[in-house]
Amino acid sequence: MKLLEDRIRRDGKIKAGGILKVDSFLNHQMDIGLFEQMADEFYRLFEGCGVTKILTIEASGIGIACITAQKFNCPVIFAKKTKTKNIDGAVYTAQVESFTHGRVYDIIVSKEFLKAGDRVLIIDDFLANGAALSGLVQIVKDAGATAVGAGIAIEKTFQPGGERLRASGLRIESLARIKSMSDDGAIEFC
Ligand code: 5GP
Repeated sequence: MKLLEDRIRRDGKIKAGGILKVDSFLNHQMDIGLFEQMADEFYRLFEGCGVTKILTIEASGIGIACITAQKFNCPVIFAKKTKTKNIDGAVYTAQVESFTHGRVYDIIVSKEFLKAGDRVLIIDDFLANGAALSGLVQIVKDAGATAVGAGIAIEKTFQPGGERLRASGLRIESLARIKSMSDDGAIEFC
């Protein structure tokens, strides 16, 4: 999506360790006009998949997921990050290793909101090693629901998550796919 690529080129900041900061329009301040156009694109790609729920992970995915859900006219569920495992069995849970912080945490989704028969579109801001997306897919499977695919704002293809998850059969549509980033600020898109 050229609009998003142009914005990343203009306002993205490259940090050590293969991290792209997009705080001015996506991860801290949010450009809702841009989100609207991203949501239109996700709708074009996944229209006809019978989406009944959108699933994302707190916090950065929530904004994009909400605007996207308006297009599909369905609810958004966000997986909560938690340090304490819920032991009463009322939640689906998966372990995720954080790309940006390097630690492992549990994510949970209440069984009340995700049911067998749901057709789930997963939305997230970034795809890097694929840990967050794998955890979300696992929760969808545990619920007996179907993951129709994943809509990602920015995929870094020099990290292995996208290739691995596509090989497992998951449909992934990323609006901007970064092939490489260099310390001097150059970004190459696929
Ligand atoms: P993964 O689990 O695929 O390794 O990483 C995905 C998660 O880590 C995303 O939900 C996002 O919050 C965060 N993340 C991964 N790479 C980046 C990055 O380059 N920049 C920012 N801002 N977040 C990232």
